[in-house]
Amino acid sequence: MAFAGTDVILNVVLQDFLPIIPGLTSLGMFITDLFFVFVITRYKVFDLVTIAHEDIINTIPHGILVLDEEESVIETNRALHLFVDIEVGDTFDIETLLSSVRTGDNLQHFIAQYKLRETDLSEIELFSEQRNLHFILQTSPIFDAKRIPLGHIFIFRDVTQERSLVQELNRQNELLHEQNRSLDRTRLDLSLANRRLEELALTDSLTHCYNRYYLTQRLSQELNATAEQRLPFSLILFDIDFFKTINDRYGHVAGDEVLYRTAQAVKQCIRSTDILARYGGEEFMLYLPYTNNKTAKKIAEQVRYAVESNMVHLEQLVEPISVTVSVGVLSIQDLHHVQIGENMKEYLNFLFSEVDKPLYRAKKNGRNRVELADMTPLPDWPFKQSAHNN
Ligand code: GH3
Ligand code: MG
Ligand code: MG
Repeated sequence: MAFAGTDVILNVVLQDFLPIIPGLTSLGMFITDLFFVFVITRYKVFDLVTIAHEDIINTIPHGILVLDEEESVIETNRALHLFVDIEVGDTFDIETLLSSVRTGDNLQHFIAQYKLRETDLSEIELFSEQRNLHFILQTSPIFDAKRIPLGHIFIFRDVTQERSLVQELNRQNELLHEQNRSLDRTRLDLSLANRRLEELALTDSLTHCYNRYYLTQRLSQELNATAEQRLPFSLILFDIDFFKTINDRYGHVAGDEVLYRTAQAVKQCIRSTDILARYGGEEFMLYLPYTNNKTAKKIAEQVRYAVESNMVHLEQLVEPISVTVSVGVLSIQDLHHVQIGENMKEYLNFLFSEVDKPLYRAKKNGRNRVELADMTPLPDWPFKQSAHNN
């Protein structure tokens, strides 16, 4: 512009006074061109790599911040402004940045690593309440080829979505755990209720002994096992003597109480492996697994004595009531010839009728006594297989 102006003044306005000086405007244009070439070369205005580099760092979703050795910002990208307000030329202060966000335990360690340049990459997770942003801040020192430090690069990576997903996942997990716990509690309640129902189905509500159903089930299971192992077992059947008189004299309610107390007295004198079941009205059956004739007789005597010496005190009565029992004992010593198999029901009926015989004898011989089954000669049981007693 200066050359063109001078050209007009000298060669047009003052042409009558001064000689014509040619090429002034052209010279100006030439110098301008030289200036353009210098600027383009110096600042790489059309350098493809520089343009691409700028484009790339601006499209990266992470914030990028480059500092020189004096901690002056020399480069930023567009995404950086999501995380921090800082411009090229500003001075960066890491402590100011970290004081405005929530950090983890490793804050001091991170600052030390940044300042001492001990590692190639250090990182810390931060949360900005102001921006409601979880982000990971990574820093790496920049060195030249001779490991002389030139500055630092910071990368800010937004992890808000990941964290909220993790939080949601944890919440769902916790919910699932709570539901599982509640399911466990329900399952436990249900199994307790089931057990209670089972107990109710298998026990006699008046005497709290097992019922006849349980006795037959248990015997069926155990006799199969016992048969295989050829072990002895015994059955004791006992019946309260003259129980009708108790009912008649004291009433049915008192009779019930006597039944219950008698069962309790018997429970006290048997072993934990023995099974006491209410067989009928005032009749009880004891199943003694792995018990031979001799031991069974001893236990039968204990039962008889326990009932005889058990004084039942009832509220409405001054005198305690005492009852006695008549007892029949049956022992099976060796089952190896007895093929119970599918005939368990018949075999149990056979056993029950065989143990009823000594009970009947005990009644006949004066009551309050124990009688043993006499199984010689061997009785026929429905399938003509042999059961031995000793
Ligand atoms: P025995 O010495 O010959 O056995 O004489 P008993 O009186 O005990 O025998 P009997 O079979 O004549 O009478 C049994 C009585 O037991 C009759 C029945 O009313 C009574 N009884 C059966 N079950 C119950 C019960 O659950 N509660 C009460 N209170 N009595 C019962
Ligand atoms: Mg009776
Ligand atoms: Mg009876």
